[in-house]
Amino acid sequence: MSNLNIERVLSVHHWNDTLFSFKTTRNPGLRFDNGQFVMIGLQQGNGRPLMRAYSIASPNYEEHLEFFSIKVQDGPLTSQLQHLQPGDELMVSRKPTGTLVLDDLLPGKHLYLLSTGTGLAPFMSVIQDPETYQRYEKIVLVHGVRYVNEVAYREFITEHLPQNEYFGESLKNQLIYYPTVTREEFENQGRLTDLMRSGKLFRDIGLPPINARDDRAMICGSPSMLDETSAVLESFGLRVSPRMGEPGDYLIERAFVEK
Ligand SMILES: Cc1cc2nc3c(=O)[nH]c(=O)nc-3n(C[C@H](O)[C@H](O)[C@H](O)COP(=O)(O)OP(=O)(O)OC[C@H]3O[C@@H](n4cnc5c(N)ncnc54)[C@H](O)[C@@H]3O)c2cc1C
Repeated sequence: MSNLNIERVLSVHHWNDTLFSFKTTRNPGLRFDNGQFVMIGLQQGNGRPLMRAYSIASPNYEEHLEFFSIKVQDGPLTSQLQHLQPGDELMVSRKPTGTLVLDDLLPGKHLYLLSTGTGLAPFMSVIQDPETYQRYEKIVLVHGVRYVNEVAYREFITEHLPQNEYFGESLKNQLIYYPTVTREEFENQGRLTDLMRSGKLFRDIGLPPINARDDRAMICGSPSMLDETSAVLESFGLRVSPRMGEPGDYLIERAFVEK
């Protein structure tokens, strides 16, 4: 039996020249934890599928799957994937995996979801999980990007999700959304590591600086962003989960691998 399901694209949304999202059908047998990723890909002329890791941006109770993707112009997969149309086929692996799951965090008061670029994807799923609001008093979603038009999902987070009949009220009271832009004027500016080191992030959101007693975190971004952000969290006294299934103060996942 193949380890891949064939899904159909339902809709595609282009945020700008470099980012897009798309929804697909979901095999009812596919089970996953919010925050996990799957392999997705397209069948190639040689008969073999070209697969890449993708975080699932939709929550695990939705009937469809959603993905948030970069467009790398000469990227083997995304140079093709960016032309997806409704009705097209997409291969999706049957075994989701990944480190960014609530169960691998020690209990705490505040949950920081620290992302850059498409590293937002797994956190779109985590912030739509009612369990997140039961486990933490405040959830701080930081999304760092270079340009204003890369602040994807903003309206969805600020306008649509608060209306959700199950967790909308909790989200209104508990989610602090903090998009920040590095190369253009914006309401929040600067790199998230600088904002944490200087304390500006904590002053802006009205929470005390991160400490190991109260705060937990998940990080998703480029390899260098992960290194830098981990170093900042360690300087606050947080300790990374040593491996899947062993809880820690914070969790990391690469949003992509540098080649
Ligand atoms: C665990 C995991 C989860 C991932 N989840 C996502 C996701 O949700 N959305 C997504 O778009 N990608 C995600 N990726 C990256 C994805 O697997 C591919 O690398 C990406 O789709 C580009 O594929 P490609 O074949 O076009 O180019 P590749 O040959 O895979 O990449 C070419 C180069 O493009 C750059 N690059 C690749 N992906 C990104 C990115 N996301 N942001 C910025 N630069 C990038 C890197 O420098 C890379 O060396 C994830 C990777 C991992 C390891």
